[in-house]
Amino acid sequence: MNLNDIVKIQDMDLNNKNVIVRVDYNVPLKDGKVDNPKRIIATEKTIKYLLGKGCRIVLISHLGRPKGKVSPEFSLSPVAVEVEKIMGVKVHFAKDCIGPEADKAVDLAKKGEIVLLENLRFHPEEEANDKNFAQKLAKYGEIFIQDAFGTVHRAHASTSAITQFLPSAAGFLIQKEVEFLGGALNDPKRPFAAVIGGAKVSDKIMVLNNLLDKVNVLVIGGGMAYTFLYALGRHIGTSLLEDDKIEEAKAVVAKALAKGVKLLLPLDHICAKEFADNIPAITTDGQDIPEGYMGLDIGPETIKLFERELSKCKTIFWNGPVGVFEMTSYSKGSFAIAEVLAKLTKEGVITIIGGGDSLNVLKKAKISNGSVSHASTGGGASMEFVEGKELPGLTALLKK
Ligand code: AMP
Repeated sequence: MNLNDIVKIQDMDLNNKNVIVRVDYNVPLKDGKVDNPKRIIATEKTIKYLLGKGCRIVLISHLGRPKGKVSPEFSLSPVAVEVEKIMGVKVHFAKDCIGPEADKAVDLAKKGEIVLLENLRFHPEEEANDKNFAQKLAKYGEIFIQDAFGTVHRAHASTSAITQFLPSAAGFLIQKEVEFLGGALNDPKRPFAAVIGGAKVSDKIMVLNNLLDKVNVLVIGGGMAYTFLYALGRHIGTSLLEDDKIEEAKAVVAKALAKGVKLLLPLDHICAKEFADNIPAITTDGQDIPEGYMGLDIGPETIKLFERELSKCKTIFWNGPVGVFEMTSYSKGSFAIAEVLAKLTKEGVITIIGGGDSLNVLKKAKISNGSVSHASTGGGASMEFVEGKELPGLTALLKK
């Protein structure tokens, strides 16, 4: 899917309209207050655009996992206070997302004001993609804007069914995701490399298979690399091994060879006898790992190789740490990937990070998300996008 395939907020006649916006305000709360407003700030562009058109905006979101029941700890009420601060206009909070409470709040709001409806997931109908529920939400607007990328891989009432009742379009956050993820997968500047790490082959096998059809270079690191090295006949000591994925790893290697994709695996490793920080660690001299040791990070020769190969590329997609970055002793490899991406971004390379744990690497390495071209906000959604799966919330925005 490309940016040109979907209807955009800029395509709609929005002047003085009542607009519903699906946002992702699933923010951390602490002592009844928003602890980190990043996700609210991220919606500023879309909301200010609509305010500039004189719209009345009804915001809908989920928060946490209340599992279809009213749970005060998952109330969006503290979020309303923060939205008012950030957007600088009156925000009316409705204690329910449908019914008399919602009707009242929406009726009170004037053009140029915002209503935030209570957590959608207090109603089981939201996650059931219930049509009647979606219709009740839809009556609060004339146009629907989707701007919650993190939920578009789910067919819920606020991502899918609601689009049957209202003309629908993508907000600016969704557009940026589709521009970068879709751009990289469908029309990348080449050479195009993907760096895939993380613990398990099983979690990433679909990503690997889809990327093999797209990339010129595939870099594999992290715990999952050991199943590949084992499949290629290396000694891996007590490193992570998924016995039932050895054949699939072999198939990935064969596919890379058949497609002319340069497949890079670690050349050396940082190893220890236990899965623990600050214990004696060794650096291997080559790909084999001695008996009784486990690989916990890529070694210095691998860092050099990965940096050298990535420096030749024009587009780089990264998902998953190449070592146990949570422990200081094994964070060097993942930090090196983050640093090389930040450096290459400055040189004009398109760098895209998709998936939660790589964002945590950036944070730990004190590299801002703005240092790469695009840091995807939707963990599961960006993974499914890269796996080539259909995302119901985006399909709903396709031009007819
Ligand atoms: P994922 O969520 O699939 O991206 O996996 C991230 C997790 O993989 C992190 O918690 C890392 O600690 C873990 N990981 C990375 N490298 C290794 C390794 N060599 N051995 C064990 N776990 C690893």
